[in-house]
Amino acid sequence: MQKFILFLLLLCTFVNAEWGQKDVHRLLLKRTNQKDGVYTAKLEPVMDTAGLVVVAEYHKAMGDSYRPTITSANDFSWHGRFSKHYLNLALDFRIRDVPFHKRSELVLAIKKALGERFLVLWEDAGTLNEHLHIEFRPSE
Ligand SMILES: [Zn+2]
Repeated sequence: MQKFILFLLLLCTFVNAEWGQKDVHRLLLKRTNQKDGVYTAKLEPVMDTAGLVVVAEYHKAMGDSYRPTITSANDFSWHGRFSKHYLNLALDFRIRDVPFHKRSELVLAIKKALGERFLVLWEDAGTLNEHLHIEFRPSE
């Protein structure tokens, strides 16, 4: 009996090790395209999870085979000096390849799915740089 419990414990440890934070990060990279130069290696776990929530909403709007593009994480130097991008707490998603009539609905769905702990900004609308900025707002 003891051996069986030990086996179960080992199994639990194994399963947890199998599906750790790195796997969540890997899954996010698999489910998205990343623009050249996008640096996500130090992304905070909370943003990996948020990124997958965003992907799920893109799927609802665009179909399950759609792969949204991450256009920025902690990379480009033209973010504001105190940008959450430099704290690995922000991601930008391309939205200009989503049909125009679907965009506002998608933005609303993402806001709703992420909840109040995240700030979702629809930036540079109407330009080539049109994107969704998503950042984590740690509670004070
Ligand atoms: Zn941004």
